[in-house]
Parts: sequence; C-alpha cells; structure tokens
Amino acid sequence: MEKMVYFFGGRSTEGDAGMRDLLGGKGANLAEMANLGIDVPAGFTISTEVCTSYYESKGKYPEKLRQDVAGNMKKMEDVMGARFGDPENPLLVSVRSGARVSMPGMMDTVLNIGLNDTTLKGFIAKIGNERTGFDSYRRFVQMYGNVVMGVRGEAFESLLEKKKKERGVKNDTELSASDLKELVKEFKAVVKRETGKPFPEKPEDQLWGAIGAVFSSWDTPRAVSYRKLNNIPGGWGTAVNVQAMVFGNMGENSGTGVAFTRDPATGENIFYGEYLMNAQGEDVVAGIRTPQQINIRTKKDPSLPSLEEEMPEVYKSLEDIREKLEKHYRDMQDIEFTIQQGKLWMLQTRTGKRTAVASIRTAVEMVEEGLITEEEAIRRMEPSQMDQLLHPMFDPKFEKKVIAKGLNASPGAASGKVVFSADEADKLGRKGEKIILVRLETSPEDIHGMAVAQGILTARGGMTSHAAVVARGMGKCCVAGCSAINVDYGRERITVGDIEVKKGDYISLDGTEGEVMLGEVPTIDSEILRIIRDKMKPEESPIYGYYSKLMSWVDKVKRLGVRTNADTPEDAVIARRFGAEGIGLTRTEHMFFGEERLPVVRKMILAPTDEERKKAVDELLPMQRGDFKGLFKAMDGLPVIIRLLDPPLHEFLPNHEELLVEITKLKLEGGDKKKIEGKEELLRTIEKLKEMNPMLGHRGCRLGVTFPEVYRMQARAIFEAASELIAEGYNPVPEVMIPLVSHVNELRLTRKDTVEVAEEVMKEKGVRIKYMVGTMIELPRAALTAGEIAKEAEFFSYGTNDLTQTTFGFSRDDVEGKFLPVYIDKKVLPENPFAVLDQEGVGELVRIGIERGRKGRKGIEIGICGEHGGEPSSVEFCHRVGMDYVSCSPFRVPIARLSAAQAVLKERK
Ligand code: ADP
Ligand code: MG
Ligand code: MG
Repeated sequence: MEKMVYFFGGRSTEGDAGMRDLLGGKGANLAEMANLGIDVPAGFTISTEVCTSYYESKGKYPEKLRQDVAGNMKKMEDVMGARFGDPENPLLVSVRSGARVSMPGMMDTVLNIGLNDTTLKGFIAKIGNERTGFDSYRRFVQMYGNVVMGVRGEAFESLLEKKKKERGVKNDTELSASDLKELVKEFKAVVKRETGKPFPEKPEDQLWGAIGAVFSSWDTPRAVSYRKLNNIPGGWGTAVNVQAMVFGNMGENSGTGVAFTRDPATGENIFYGEYLMNAQGEDVVAGIRTPQQINIRTKKDPSLPSLEEEMPEVYKSLEDIREKLEKHYRDMQDIEFTIQQGKLWMLQTRTGKRTAVASIRTAVEMVEEGLITEEEAIRRMEPSQMDQLLHPMFDPKFEKKVIAKGLNASPGAASGKVVFSADEADKLGRKGEKIILVRLETSPEDIHGMAVAQGILTARGGMTSHAAVVARGMGKCCVAGCSAINVDYGRERITVGDIEVKKGDYISLDGTEGEVMLGEVPTIDSEILRIIRDKMKPEESPIYGYYSKLMSWVDKVKRLGVRTNADTPEDAVIARRFGAEGIGLTRTEHMFFGEERLPVVRKMILAPTDEERKKAVDELLPMQRGDFKGLFKAMDGLPVIIRLLDPPLHEFLPNHEELLVEITKLKLEGGDKKKIEGKEELLRTIEKLKEMNPMLGHRGCRLGVTFPEVYRMQARAIFEAASELIAEGYNPVPEVMIPLVSHVNELRLTRKDTVEVAEEVMKEKGVRIKYMVGTMIELPRAALTAGEIAKEAEFFSYGTNDLTQTTFGFSRDDVEGKFLPVYIDKKVLPENPFAVLDQEGVGELVRIGIERGRKGRKGIEIGICGEHGGEPSSVEFCHRVGMDYVSCSPFRVPIARLSAAQAVLKERK
C-alpha cells in the first residue's frame, strides 16, 4: 500500500470513477465530478485498503496515515483559503463513509467538524451570520454525539422539541441564535452525562474520532446484516471521505437538495428532485420540513415555489449538470447538492436506485436516445426486477376504503398486519406473517424490518427519503410522507381523524397511487400478466411495450434455449407467451391424481394379476392421451418433454394411519364384514408398499422395469396423441423422458419398450412421428457413467433437485425447514443448494456428465429441468457448461431469458 490518501478538488484531483474499489463509490464519483469541471468542495479520500489493514492489525492505523492526512488537510486548506482549527479563519469539514456500493448500514456522515467555542467566533465573523454559526454548531454536537460517541438520537431530538415548544415555533429554522446557543450547551451536557466523557474540543481529536468511527462502523451489526442481505463481502472495507464544508443553512439564498436525473418511480425522462431553503445535509431526506420540488413541471403544492422559480439561475446550472452527468455516466444519477449564498456545489452523484418499471423504461429509452447500446440495456436489468414486473396489483373493482394519501414512493400492492418497530417486523416476518411496517420515518436501523415487510408506510419524508429510496431498491411497496396519519408509538396505533388502526390490524398500501386503505384489499394480475392472459391489449400498456422491446434484444443475444416446466395446457400457453421455446418437463404423476382417475390408478396398483392390471392401465390410456394432446397443441411445433411416471406408488394410496383409524371405527360400530375385509386388504398392500426411505425407493424407472405396463401405456398415449394431432394438421414434437436412471441397463430396457410402442402406434396409424427418447440425469452414478448412458439416450435433462439431494445426501423436505438455515447462518454453506445450484459439487457432476455424454453421443441434446433452471446464477452456469437449454416454471421464463443473455454478455466483457 504505497498511497493511502487521494485528493479531490479542481486540478489537483487524483482519483476517478474507475477507482471505486479503492476509493468507494462516493469518493470515486466526487473525484470524477471534479475532473468533469463540476464544482465540488475540495477534500480527500482515505482508501478502502486502509480499512482492510485497520482490521487486519486489530484496529491500528498504518504508520504513515497521520502524516498523509495532515498533508492532504494542508492542501485542502490552501484550496479553500482557510485553516482547520484556526480561531480567525477556520475551515470546517465533513467526514463521510463510502463503501464500493452504497450501504445504508454504515456510519452516518458528520458535518461541521472543527467547531468549538473558539473557532465558532471566527466562523461567525467570517460568514457574518450568528444564527448560521450556532445552527451549524448544534448540528455538529448532535451528529458527533450520536454517530461517533453513541448517544441516542432521541436524547437530542427531545431537547430540540422542547426548545421549539418553549419558543412556540414549529420549525427549527424559527429558533434564534441564542436558542441554538443554549441547545449547544444542553447537547454537550447530555454527551457528558451519557458517556461520562466531555465533548472533544480539539479539532484534531474531532477529526480522528470521526475517521475512527467510520472504520469501526464497517463491522457494526447493522452493516453486517445489510451486507448479508445484499451479498457484499466483508473484506471490501469502506473508504473515508473528508471534505470541506459548504453551507446550505446561510439564510434565504442558501439551501440543500437531492435529485434524480429521471423519475425513479416511473423512469420518465424528467428531472425530479426536492430541496429545502436554509437547510443543511440530511434535512430533506429526514423529512423535517416538507420539501419543495425543484421544477415547475413536477410541482405538487402550488403554494410552495420550486427552485426553478425561486432561483432560476441556480436551477439552470443544476439542469446543465444533470445533462452533463447523464451524458457522462450514461445512466440515471441520484445527486446531492448544496446552494451556499446563491452558488451551487455538488456533493454526490451515484447511479440512482429505481423501480422495475423505471429500470426497464430508462434502459429502453436510453437506447433510443443513443446513450447506450442494446447490450448495455440488457446488462443493466436486474433479473429479480423482471419478477417485480409480474407482481400483482389491487383489484380496481373492489371498493377500497382509502383513509389517507401519501407519496407514491415505491409502487406495488401490499397488505398486512400493522407493526411499529423493525424488530417486531423482523420477528413476525420470519414466521411468515404478512406485515406492514409503519414508522414516522425510517433509518438505517430499520433495514432488517423493511426487508421482511410486505410494505412500508411513513408519516414523514419525501420521494428521496430513506424509506422511499430503500424500498425502491428492495422492490418493495412504499407510501412515504403520509402526513395525514398520526403515528403513536406509545399506544401502538395509527389515527386518522376518528379512525383508529391498532397494532395487528390489517391495512393495505397502494405504492403506485400512494394510498393507505383499511383491511386486506384483493389483488389482480399485473399489467404484463393481464396482457399475457388476454385480459388487456398490448397497445394499451406502455410498460408492456418497453418489456417486449427489451426482450426482443435479449433473444438476439442469448444462446441458451429457454423452455418451461408445465403440466397443463394452460401453463404451457402462458409460458409460451412469456417466450418459452418448448416444454422441458411435464410431470405425468399430476395427471394421476385427478378425482376420477385416482380410483383407476388404485385399481392398477392393487391388481392381483397382470391381466387385471392391464385392464386398469387401459382405462387410463384415453385420459392420458387427452392430456398429451392438450400439451402438444399448446406447444405446436415446439419440443415437449414428457417424463414417464416417477413417484413411488404408495403416494397414490390412502394414508396408512387414517385407514387404520377407519377400520377400527368400522369394527367398533359392527360395520359390514365385507367392507372391513376389503379395507384390511388395502391396508396390507399399503404396508407392503410402504418404504423406509421413499426418495431412494421403488420409484422412477424402477417402476418401469418392474411394471412395464405403466410405461408402455404412457408411451402409447403419447404417440397416439401425436398421431391424432398430425392427422388434424398439427406438428407435435414429443420427447419421452425416463426418470431416475442410475445404470444404463435400466434405460436400455425401458427405452426398448418405448421404441417398440412407438413403432407399433406409427404402424397402426400409418404416420411418421419425429421423436426422441432420453433420460434425466439426477443420480451421481448417472452423471459419472453418462458416456454409457448416452448410447441409449438422445437427450439428457438434468434433474438438479434430485441430483442435489443425492449428491449432498440431503432429503430436501427434512433439511430445508430444519438444519439448513443453521448451516447458512454458520456459513457451512453459502446458500440453499436447492435454490442456487451448488456449482462446485453438484455442478461438477453436471459438467462431467455433459463431457462424457457428448463423447458417448455426438450432438446429444442437454438441458436442465430442476428449479435451478430459473435462478440467474445457475442459468449462467448452465450457459458456461454448454447446455442447450434451461427449463423453468412459466413465470420464471422471462428471468431465465434475461439471465441467459447476460451470461453471453459476461463472456464478452
Ligand atoms: P449518505 O451516504 O447517507 O448520503 P453523505 O455523506 O452523502 O451521506 O452526507 C449526508 C448529507 O450531508 C448529504 O445531504 C450531503 O450532501 C451532506 N454533506 C456531506 N458533506 C458535506 C459538505 N462537505 N458540505 C455540505 N454538505 C455536506
Ligand atoms: Mg449522500
Ligand atoms: Mg427427480
């Protein structure tokens, strides 16, 4: 580590946006803006490497650090023409944390560092405003006391409230210099009382106290929990930014604000932001006063002027910066600015968090504007946002009882029980309860509760408040700044007029409209889903327009095919409209559970002779034929993989215990002898079929080997269905799949039966059907002997659910709810391997199987049909190992398509 500190400001800037890993996002972008010639108060960044080394050496700074910081402070002093700690002409600074990715779990920024009773005098003389001086001072003591020294925020808040009450004013801007002066004293006394330590007076101590607090904040429980939630490695560390202060609290020609270069909720290309005059730092975000809109176009309250009207020149410069930043970063930016006596200063820029709708709209429109390429648009989409586009919305036909309106901070429809604290939300949410987290405003401490809530409701704060920004990032419904509601934490209730909502009562939030409703409002399909289901015309939905445009680009890029797992024609139709290119898995057992079928299936299982079994099987044939016809029709012209019966037979029989109870009852009641005997016979069969370990028992192709009639019947149904459809002018493409093969001989036998039946049927009907017979690879032995198996199989489909079970030796149902969460908590496993494919273990078997399978049969078709087929990182893996397609549930088809395209683009990078 040669260089530990990087300066920014004007021509002396040493960093740039490419140095995000070293300087953190905030530091790198401050440097970048300075390089672009945008006015940024000078400062410097202590690199993330220093943080890492600080942890490695158990809390010690590298030797040279103090010296480097001193050198950079000197440089900053020269640029700003003021001295840190100087009684006449003091420089004040802020200390800001900044990891590679923005992290609300980190330390809060401390502003106005360098103030004490002495420097304050010089500061006031310099700015010529006593009130601003004391206001800055009380903010400093408050922030430093809270953030660095750990005094509860409420201790200060309540003193501030008390002061306002005493003075009979509503806003802190109405407090006088002497009020604020008193507050400084009171705040310092609180610090002394609560920490036992005096408030540090020496600017140098203040600075290092804040720097130390940033470094230690990297490992607070909040930060750790946020990292866990977002998969951020602990080894990254945070950078520290020290920056010269500019003041938005210097009276009526000063102010501070935040803005998005496009609307973060809808994605519309309009400049969207909020600001407050005579305010500092977080005032806008914290919802202390109602913020004003930056321009006329987005104004909501006609009585509040916009920046465009109040300070047209400043607004003009802000618009220029907006354009400059969008052109430069070629993405929507989230910016922070401060106006000090009519001069505009930029304090931050970063990629703006946005809703799924905004994400897709900005991506598509930026391609049309020539800012980015189609490929970049694809890269930018989060696969999980595809999911959000399909989330339900409230039924407009339902008569809703709107009790209050707030800001439509993050769209969506959510219902749940009201809770007032993040901890409680966390507790109930983990139990699977649907909850709405209600807060006056949220802060980084609430993240864990927000993560499990259905929706978030706040009484204060604007579109750029913490709740709004975090909710949009999480894709969660949020109504913010709903000032009509009265939140009473003490009595745990919300009141609006004479309506009272208690903790545990149901409410519903419409994040798209900003409405709060009583009770649980029913939901309907999202816009895209309604189009898919023919309930709306595509032309009526702009969102669908963006979606289909993006997906057309996705299809141009991706190499992997995407099929669907579907058991019914209805599912198949939906999946096809989502872009499925065939069926990768039809589970035929679902067809055996139908009400009128189960008795026949039972007859088949219980048949005492082969002849009787054949009779029952024949009864099932026409039903199965009908099932397959429906599927082939829905997927006309596209391949349909049908898996022959897989589960153990006892699954189709009544429950053992229940039957036992029934028989006992019949006997006690002196029931019909014959009937009792019949039931007892059934009981014996169930006992005979009962297995210690059904997952590893008599199932899959083992059934096909022992009861060939069942598989032969299914094959006949498949080929008869296909022949009939060909006669009707359709083009069915059947692929018959034999499950749970471990030894090639199992496949040889069952395949022979299938081919025989196929030939029989084709001869009978006088048609040629193009078909394939293949197998699932879902047992380790099958993967290892794939070369042999491929000689009998025209295709492989990886059943990674069973393959994960059998590779780990985990019985899914027995581990998922039980010890697996502990495993993940203790980092024994990085993730649930049933959700995210275990690439090193299970994936290695997949890779070996593909390699050996392709050696055994050139051009063998290979896909995956386990649930991993719709999980983005697993799809990428399937692409890398050279599969032909992935198959997933209908609703995950768009996600899989996007992930498949992203996998290609990752290779190009
Ligand atoms: P966060 O990471 O929570 O956004 P920031 O470090 O951006 O925290 O700072 C919080 C607030 O303080 C922001 O509104 C920012 O613009 C303001 N701020 C930070 N540093 C300065 C400074 N040197 N001068 C004026 N305002 C500042
Ligand atoms: Mg910020
Ligand atoms: Mg299986």
